[in-house]
Amino acid sequence: MQPTYSIIAPVYNERESLPVLLDRLQGVMDTTGESWELILVDDGSTDGSTEIIRALGEQDERVRPVIFARNFGHQIAVTAGLDYSRGQAVVIIDADLQDPPEVILELIAKWKEGFEVVYAVRGEREGETWFKKTTASLFYRLIYRITDVKIPLDTGDFRLMDRKVVNVMNQMRERHRFLRGMSSWVGFRQVGVTYRRAARFAGVTKYPFSKMLRLALNAITSFSYFPLQLATYMGFFAAGLSILTIPVIVVMRLIGQQAFFGQATTLVAVLLLGGVQLISLGILGEYLGRVYDEVKGRPLYIVSQGPSDEDKQ
Ligand code: UDP
Ligand code: MG
Repeated sequence: MQPTYSIIAPVYNERESLPVLLDRLQGVMDTTGESWELILVDDGSTDGSTEIIRALGEQDERVRPVIFARNFGHQIAVTAGLDYSRGQAVVIIDADLQDPPEVILELIAKWKEGFEVVYAVRGEREGETWFKKTTASLFYRLIYRITDVKIPLDTGDFRLMDRKVVNVMNQMRERHRFLRGMSSWVGFRQVGVTYRRAARFAGVTKYPFSKMLRLALNAITSFSYFPLQLATYMGFFAAGLSILTIPVIVVMRLIGQQAFFGQATTLVAVLLLGGVQLISLGILGEYLGRVYDEVKGRPLYIVSQGPSDEDKQ
């Protein structure tokens, strides 16, 4: 009873979208003529989505609810979906219908050509603020530059992954997850499909600026040491500069001139270096905190009600 396709949708307060999501997915997936399952991961919703997910599960046996004990965040919700998925190909999709279910057929076509990861690239984005689009665009380009893994630009989590890839991902139990980076890191044959990202069907974004920042920090710290090296570079720069300046000051003193005047210069130099040092400490803290979280080894998520554990991969 292994379905061909598993579709994973993380849900955090998406009451209005859920019935429409299932309806459109049924329409699309039934045209494939193959078996499928929909894993709806309820990430601690408080708007009644949980009851709707349960009801949908009773209405259609292909729907498998996974209900979290509280809100664990989008990336963790998708991770739980991956853990419970059984399909030969696994599709991750947002529950707010910003990723049109119809695109799944294009992803499947590429998978059938032999690609193991088919990611959906956001060509145009409808109904999102100027601020969201600009910060997202900057984020993808920054990540691309500073990480060693080449993570495709303008690509979210909407993608299809072969069972082989999902099995590897499920072995990667890191806590601060950036799934699109992890699925690039795995390798295999990967290809992109461009699509038009729709506006939200209902409700508001569950990614306020603070969560976007957290995701960006997780992405950077998970895939790059560059911020840590930055302290070394700045240290060499400051030390180099002062070594060059010492003889200049000595010579100027000898010929009877003063190189620097007043306390303001000293004050500015001290404040600048103090600032740089504190920032470096903060960067170190970001990494250290993540190491601490890993060492604690707590479970990634807690399921209050889900498919039986035997179903879990
Ligand atoms: N989501 C989640 N947990 C969270 C935040 C979001 O499961 O803590 C889900 C949300 O319900 C949606 C998907 O993740 O299905 C993407 O979130 P959203 O649409 O709010 O992000 P945006 O598209 O605005 O970047
Ligand atoms: Mg969305």
